[in-house]
Amino acid sequence: MNAVTLDQLGWDEGWAHAFDALTAVDKTSELVPGRVVLEHNHVYRVLTRQGEQLAESAGRMKHRAEGRHQLPVVGDWVALRFDTGGARVHIREVLPRRTSFSRKAAGRGTEQQVLAANVDLVFIVFGLDNPVNARSIDRYLVVAKRSGATPVIVLNKADLVADPAAALEEAKAAAGSVPVHAVSSHAGWRLDTLEQYLSRGRTVALLGPSGVGKSSLVNRLVERELLPTGEVREWDARGRHTSVHRQLVVRERGGLIIDTPGMRELQLWETDAVSDTFEDLQAIAASCRFRDCRHESEPGCAVKAAVDAGLCEALRVESYLKLQREQEAMERKREERGQIEEKRQSKSVHRAMRQMTDERARRGGT
Ligand code: GDP
Ligand code: ZN
Repeated sequence: MNAVTLDQLGWDEGWAHAFDALTAVDKTSELVPGRVVLEHNHVYRVLTRQGEQLAESAGRMKHRAEGRHQLPVVGDWVALRFDTGGARVHIREVLPRRTSFSRKAAGRGTEQQVLAANVDLVFIVFGLDNPVNARSIDRYLVVAKRSGATPVIVLNKADLVADPAAALEEAKAAAGSVPVHAVSSHAGWRLDTLEQYLSRGRTVALLGPSGVGKSSLVNRLVERELLPTGEVREWDARGRHTSVHRQLVVRERGGLIIDTPGMRELQLWETDAVSDTFEDLQAIAASCRFRDCRHESEPGCAVKAAVDAGLCEALRVESYLKLQREQEAMERKREERGQIEEKRQSKSVHRAMRQMTDERARRGGT
């Protein structure tokens, strides 16, 4: 059985310093570092030196968090505390993130939802079954840059084109200094060129339009995930633990892969498309009286006033509104899908948690 070391999880001197700095004030309790591999509703799976733990975020931390973005997410390094003889595990601190992928939370507010933390590299994946578009490359590079992660462009499905080298050159021209690789996850062609990025302790996430082969690539790169050690594995042995899909996978060959459903859906240009094409109208809409103005019959609507004053075309406004509604509908659908997935995960996480608590009580109790 392979135990996971902190090094394999990406722990380094920098994290050790950050950990010491954060935990120095809390001298009363023994704190242990760990990395979050799965998150659901304030219950987390965390890999530590002592194996995988199911942990809750401490009430104190929830209280202190000013928004969802300050609570732990997949990829975070955290400080854990084993309370009352190990019966409960709490996340006391989240170490400051080096990088983070976030998107606007559902609804029209400005709250950010962090999808993944401490991603070192991002594979921006495209499929060569479609012409590679310089504009798409640009947009994904912007997303990567915003996160702080280093981008690498991967052109998958090279088996579908006669001349992958030509496509590669074209993409390289658009990518500037960002490295570009053509691969085929089906044929297993040139996948070795990606290994250089998956060195020990480095965390990679995949981004790109749906259907380009991100899942296929993850499966290829992961081969077989490292089994969790410690507490949770005991449940496997008893056949009572339901396996939960981990969102951060430690590769036996080195490197870690983050694959959260949220990352897959991070197609920011859908939202950007509206702002780019209708920049002028968005600027006008910014001075509507209500922030969630639908520009229909609300009082103080700046868009309507501009149309009435002949400052902008009614037709253009109409298509702006139409696009915006489509986008909202898409976001709603995305949220619903996310909720179904969350519910599924929640059930199995809570079941495992209950079983673990029962067992601990039985072992320690009588
Ligand atoms: P995702 O949406 O980006 O996760 O894409 P998937 O991994 O689900 O793949 C989408 C489709 O592309 C599936 O039908 C895959 O079998 C196919 N696919 C993935 N990789 C390759 C490849 O290298 N070559 C070919 N020809 N098809 C691929
Ligand atoms: Zn308005």
